Amino acid sequence: MDLMEYQAKELFARHGVPVMLGRVIDDPTDAPAAARALGGRVVVKAQVKAGGRGKAGGVKLAGSPEEAEAKARDILGMDIKGHTVRQVLLAPAADIAAEYYLSFLVDRANREYLCIASTEGGVEIEEVAHTNPDAIAKVPIDPLIGVDAAKAAEIVAAAEFPAEAAVVVQRLWDVFVAEDASLVEVNPLVKLGDGSLEALDGKVTLDGNAAYRHPDHADFEDRAAADPLEAAAQAKGLNYVKLDGSVGIIGNGAGLVMSTLDVVAYAGARPANFLDIGGGASAEVMANGLEIILSDPQVRSVFVNVFGGITACDAVANGVVQAFELLASRGEAVSKPLVVRLDGNNAEEGRRILDRAALAGLERVDTMDGAAVRAAELAA
Ligand code: GDP
Ligand code: MN
Repeated sequence: MDLMEYQAKELFARHGVPVMLGRVIDDPTDAPAAARALGGRVVVKAQVKAGGRGKAGGVKLAGSPEEAEAKARDILGMDIKGHTVRQVLLAPAADIAAEYYLSFLVDRANREYLCIASTEGGVEIEEVAHTNPDAIAKVPIDPLIGVDAAKAAEIVAAAEFPAEAAVVVQRLWDVFVAEDASLVEVNPLVKLGDGSLEALDGKVTLDGNAAYRHPDHADFEDRAAADPLEAAAQAKGLNYVKLDGSVGIIGNGAGLVMSTLDVVAYAGARPANFLDIGGGASAEVMANGLEIILSDPQVRSVFVNVFGGITACDAVANGVVQAFELLASRGEAVSKPLVVRLDGNNAEEGRRILDRAALAGLERVDTMDGAAVRAAELAA
């Protein structure tokens, strides 16, 4: 999950990183009061999950509360790289003496973490890498040691930051580890007129796999932007991603589901979703999955593609039969054609179970390609 700047800064503040929190508003008429409370001179900043807001006109200084309202009015509703600005952050305008760049990220290729630091901050780091690569320090971090005082000093020296920056570097590392982030980026980290440091911008990506350790992170979710079907699937613990086609997909195992999307596309249709019900799927999981997919108005046919493994095909077939019953009992009887392909462990028995049940609208096709073609025909 990517955070907005103001959310990243909230996390920074919890770990002692110097920031100006400011106020977030979605109505420009709230700007003057907010600006007054923040001391009058403020910066008005678009809150969207995209970089380069400054260049796009989404970051503007305002010298008075009235000007803050005008700038907020300009920025709210603006489109920045396909993101509509619905909120702006007002923060006290900083008196900037120097702009630096600092980030921590996962270096998968080297199985380490990496710190990237530069005194050429405030511009995109990719641009610096292009025009002035010597100005960028890359310091590998041993995951077992992390950023201790010695490593922080090494980073500061390599980047040619002022020595006081070491404390901020260590606290940003605390954010990275304690919050289970896969990216913490500050651009710019500024030196103010009085020599003190402040994180003026923040970009944080939190590792969703660690969400269970951070119930407080749920507050960061942008529920307004979430797809309602995805939200419903998440509430049921399903691994579902909404796509824009008309063939609903259910499979067991992420790899199989990915290939199912491919064969459906190859058959000339477009998949409506990704849904992996996993290895040991029960009838209830199958019913929940079908329920989500059938409630997608774009779905015209459903392709259930299962390779029996630990959960054998007979168990899956019974799951499908029970799922039909469960849905009927919930008043949501299956109303769209379903193509089921069963293969693998106990395939014969699974197919017999489906044939015996003779479920309305369900067709059995025993090859993956054949089933994809049939599901595509039914959706056409
Ligand atoms: P980004 O363009 O999306 O990365 O947004 P930033 O928050 O990094 O802001 C872009 C640029 O605006 C910064 O690099 C600063 O130069 C400038 N800026 C942001 N806030 C302030 C501020 O409080 N005072 C001044 N003088 N400049 C600011
Ligand atoms: Mn920035």
